[in-house]
Amino acid sequence: EQSMFHDALPQPVKVQEIRHSKLFINNEWQRSCSGRTFPTFNPATGGKICDVEEADKEDVDRAVQAAKAAVQRGSVWRRMDASRRGGMLHKLADLMERDRLLLATLETLDTGKPFLQSFFVDLDGSIKTLRYYAGWADKIHGKSLPVGDFMCLTKHEPVGVCGAIIPWNFPLLMFTWKIAPALSCGNTVVIKPAEQTPLTALHVGSLIKEAGFPPGVVNIVPGFGPTAGAAITNHMDVDKVAFTGSMEVGQLINEAAAKSNLKRVTLELGGKNPSIVFADCNLQLAVEETQKGAFYNQGQCCTAASRVFVEESIYEEFVRCSIQNAKKTVIGDPLDPQTTQGPQIDRLHFDKIMDLIESGKKEGAKLECGGAAVGEKSLFIQPTIFSGVKDHMRIAKEEIFGPVQCIFSFKSQQEAIKRANSSQYGLVSAVFTTSMDRALSVSAALETGTVWVNCYNALHAQMPFGGYKMSGIGRELGEYALAEYSEVKAVTIKLSETI
Ligand code: NAD
Repeated sequence: EQSMFHDALPQPVKVQEIRHSKLFINNEWQRSCSGRTFPTFNPATGGKICDVEEADKEDVDRAVQAAKAAVQRGSVWRRMDASRRGGMLHKLADLMERDRLLLATLETLDTGKPFLQSFFVDLDGSIKTLRYYAGWADKIHGKSLPVGDFMCLTKHEPVGVCGAIIPWNFPLLMFTWKIAPALSCGNTVVIKPAEQTPLTALHVGSLIKEAGFPPGVVNIVPGFGPTAGAAITNHMDVDKVAFTGSMEVGQLINEAAAKSNLKRVTLELGGKNPSIVFADCNLQLAVEETQKGAFYNQGQCCTAASRVFVEESIYEEFVRCSIQNAKKTVIGDPLDPQTTQGPQIDRLHFDKIMDLIESGKKEGAKLECGGAAVGEKSLFIQPTIFSGVKDHMRIAKEEIFGPVQCIFSFKSQQEAIKRANSSQYGLVSAVFTTSMDRALSVSAALETGTVWVNCYNALHAQMPFGGYKMSGIGRELGEYALAEYSEVKAVTIKLSETI
């Protein structure tokens, strides 16, 4: 029975060679102007997967020119019937379904995330996002407004050339979160994948061409932040930039956007996300969901449940059950369907997490389990739980982005809300309670863009996602994202005759 179940699961494909490692500009595969390439590694083995062409300023220039030509008035894309635009997004989703096993395998090779998660979460979310915005394409329209002797209408026009800069933790999902609403609204895109994880974006480049998008509508420029990334943010012909990544880089991007051409900016940055677990909750559910929140994707999530506040009366039991639950983690080869935790993305990031774990030990938090690397030279870290965490500790304030759960205790609801909100971040939060009143009043008081009640990481293409405070600017997903990719034009017509 076990083996039948095993057989029924999707299996990774054998990747003999990487087909796409060049820049994708104007629907063509191009070498970089400088002739430079950079290697991308498999974090599970440390082995090099392949070399990828490295975009720099000149390449970004070429990509922006192509994107600008593709969106200019009179272009094929600009004049295309909106439902055909939607049809192309659906076609792209179909092609991603067709290549789903290969894309999930590439995603796992490049990021180290478990294959079944790539297949069921990243691919599922990417395909659903494309289909959601495919459906919107021919439903984007303005209003007509009665204003005295005037006939007034609003039109929703594309912004133009949209730059996008994305991180390594969800390469494909972030790629589709950016391109789907942009294309649905009729924009063109120049997108830079993270230097650690360029492979799935490039494969999707080939699918974009196959789906029939005109040349220049999507251009993909793998490369580094201070070179290719900065060239996008500083460019005078880029009309908007959408960024997902760290708060520090988000600030640089907002600054560069302001200083160049005041391009529109949306930012999805970090979080130090609070969960509040009340004594009246379903304890097992709260334990499992908050820990999934803390450990999912090796903890490398902007939504990570990094501060879990537990009501005093159930605190000890919650900690005990959390330790029990952490033992279910299966660390290993991310291509193995049994594996639930893979390696961290790279050495630099691994070192940063280990440093924060050490700081937790030194500052007096109680290490309940984990707290060390797995093996000698690998990038795997044991699932780690700290209890007795105090608000002033580094692990309570800094984003760890690793498999580390920090558990705090609280006495009153008021105190929990105050501590939850005392952060520069405001991305997501969660509340665990069986009281409807409490769920509603506490979610009203939390200063975050998303509040999950009795669940975690419940993301849907229909629901807006984004941060309060320093977690970002603007919203992705849902109908709300359409506004971030449109300019509203008000047309006011004086009526000479009123009847
Ligand atoms: P990062 O900010 O270093 O890099 C993100 C992207 O920005 C990469 O493509 C990188 O090349 C580029 N970049 C770096 N410097 C740049 C510069 N000067 N100009 C232009 N582009 C530049 O972040 P990371 O280490 O790749 O990712 C981890 C961070 O991302 C975490 O802080 C996490 O919270 C955040 N994140 C946020 C979300 C969200 O939706 N809010 C999602 C995922 C990750």
